Amino acid sequence: MLLDVNNLHAKVAETDKEILKGVNLQVNPGEVHAIMGPNGSGKSTFANVLAGREDYEVTDGRVLFDGEDLLEMEPEERARAGLFLAFQYPVEIPGVSNKLFLFTAVNAVREARGLPPLEMHEFEELAAEKMKLLKMRPDMLERSVNVGFSGGEKKRNDIFQMAMLEPKLAVMDETDSGLDIDALRIVADGVNSLRDGQRSFIVVTHYQRLLDYIKPDFVHVLYNGRIIKSGGFELAHELEEKGYDDLIRQFG
Ligand code: ADP
Ligand code: MG
Ligand code: MG
Repeated sequence: MLLDVNNLHAKVAETDKEILKGVNLQVNPGEVHAIMGPNGSGKSTFANVLAGREDYEVTDGRVLFDGEDLLEMEPEERARAGLFLAFQYPVEIPGVSNKLFLFTAVNAVREARGLPPLEMHEFEELAAEKMKLLKMRPDMLERSVNVGFSGGEKKRNDIFQMAMLEPKLAVMDETDSGLDIDALRIVADGVNSLRDGQRSFIVVTHYQRLLDYIKPDFVHVLYNGRIIKSGGFELAHELEEKGYDDLIRQFG
């Protein structure tokens, strides 16, 4: 098993507000899991806790990633161990080119995996290959990280970073709004082109449509800090038709 989340409880740091109230989730290599649920359920909190964001405090439970205690690791260590978080609001880093940012990040991950660092020309070849795969314009590499990127370009860049870092598990937290159909396609095509039978994904989304393109193996409904229902891809369709109300009455 790649990720084993066991009875995870978390609260906003320096408050008593518990948001995650016992999340259980198991992800095997190669699986794609979607997490859906009404606004305010704790979906982003879950993604942030996996990433190790300091605004949240884990109060109970256990998370094993590739057999190691994830919660004991610093955010950078998590990334080096093969966890990739694509965020709702990608950071902008003025003055730092995508190229430099990724060159550094890729070699840090390689070092952690016991691989020799790439030389710049090797890195450039790899980047060119991935950009072609993702149908990205080569000049994206020279631009400052996310500065002045359109929504679609940011998505594409997120996916590009993921492609370069070759994570074991990618966690993507999609916004509730503002993704047009082109951006949805970019995300879906990116995920699909990076599926290789080993890499796993957790896709947090409200978008039935995104899931139509990605076709996750499992769909989970998170409500009030717990996963109240899990199923296959068909669960996403059921939710689209019936909404969350019945489920919440039954299990919430
Ligand atoms: P979702 O992504 O499912 O919409 P969130 O994880 O963003 O849900 O939020 C779950 C609950 O936790 C909400 O009530 C939200 O207001 C609260 N919450 C999340 N992060 C914080 C924070 N940093 N400070 C205070 N409350 C927060
Ligand atoms: Mg929200
Ligand atoms: Mg959210």
